[in-house]
Amino acid sequence: MSKNIQAIRGMHDILPDRIAIWHRLEDTAREVLSGYGYTEIRTPLVEVTELFSRSIGEVTDIVEKEMYSFEDRNGDGLSLRPEGTASCVRAAIEHGMLMQPQRLWYRGPMFRYERPQRGRYRQFHQIGVEAFGLAGPDIDLEIILLTARLWRALGFERFRLELNTLGDQAERQAYRERLVAYLSTHLDQLDADSQRRLATNPLRILDSKNPQTQQIVADAPTLMDCLGDETRSHFEQICRNLDAAGIGYQINPRLVRGLDYYNRTVFEWITDELGAQGTVCAGGRYDGLVAQLGGRPTPAVGFAMGLERLVELMQQDGQFAEPPLDAYFVAVGDKAQAATPRLTEQLRDAVPGLRLLAHCGGGSFKSQFKKADKSGARLALILGEDELARQVVGVKHLREDVEQRELEMEALAAYLRAATTSSAET
Ligand code: ATP
Ligand code: MG
Repeated sequence: MSKNIQAIRGMHDILPDRIAIWHRLEDTAREVLSGYGYTEIRTPLVEVTELFSRSIGEVTDIVEKEMYSFEDRNGDGLSLRPEGTASCVRAAIEHGMLMQPQRLWYRGPMFRYERPQRGRYRQFHQIGVEAFGLAGPDIDLEIILLTARLWRALGFERFRLELNTLGDQAERQAYRERLVAYLSTHLDQLDADSQRRLATNPLRILDSKNPQTQQIVADAPTLMDCLGDETRSHFEQICRNLDAAGIGYQINPRLVRGLDYYNRTVFEWITDELGAQGTVCAGGRYDGLVAQLGGRPTPAVGFAMGLERLVELMQQDGQFAEPPLDAYFVAVGDKAQAATPRLTEQLRDAVPGLRLLAHCGGGSFKSQFKKADKSGARLALILGEDELARQVVGVKHLREDVEQRELEMEALAAYLRAATTSSAET
């Protein structure tokens, strides 16, 4: 026998018993984001590879070894998107959206060829935000406040905010030289990856996970020492306003982020409850990227959060279930079954938001009742030849001790309207 085909390693089905958590997360995020005036943008899952190599950076992990790249039948070099920012910038330039400030958000699957493990997958989902055309620290603060509000709305009270500034290009260049000079004197003590990065991407050595490298890095000069007045004041204003807003944070001078395009503010929200993959949201300012991709110079700031990690936390926290069905429509006999579509459509028209499952496939009263019970519905609506002849529908409460009754269609619609509003309130 041939083997069953399975999902690709690191790519997961989200099954119906988990979907309520996803809906809760996505709906809450959408509400919070629209409450701050952000609107959704949807871009293709596939882009030309050059978009990512030019924005994320040639010598980053993502572009060097994590992208799903391929040639299409035309011979064009394409990639599944590994993140959302590059596509947003591309779309904003392409559609001339950057004449005024834009507050955008996106959601959807991203693809990275990483080693699958807890909290790290090859297809994963992000919700992200990009704000274009605003240069001041007020917008950096806004997106941090917005994420803090989202955590509160979701009941997360224990995320840690880490913050850093990467300076501007010139400041970073100056720092890079100092860092390389320092690390070069310890070259033989660095791990192999970091030795290689010394020439290509030395700032990444700062967040090396290698313990011995970490020791060397602990005494390295910090970027803060290379900052000019303007960058310093931008950063200090954010810190001051976070203090004023009562949002705790830690300044982490080794927070550098894995993508090349960041400057000035970078931040991460981290939890200790997910093991090694503790960053649930990460972002920062990327003032150079729009121009780098051919647009007119436009300041920008944004973040992305990893939904799988948030879903795992929500699952640890409690139970989520889709709302139960209001009713299960039981129809026995040929005539009753033939009348069912007309009657159930009438009920759907008359009762907005009604969650009604109409039985399909025939069968006895007994077998249909079993299914009604298993469906979790609160009510069974019953139509047999007898009810049909008298133009009524039987109403049986499946979860409470209420006497069974019969109602004509109009009265039934009113009854269901009352029942659905009372269940929506509980
Ligand atoms: P990490 O350091 O965990 O690899 P990153 O810096 O590569 O993260 P970003 O590109 O900034 O991550 O993505 C933002 C968020 O998306 C991360 O903080 C994380 O929550 C989530 N994320 C990133 N990669 C994955 C993945 N492979 N699987 C699941 N979630 C991910
Ligand atoms: Mg990564």
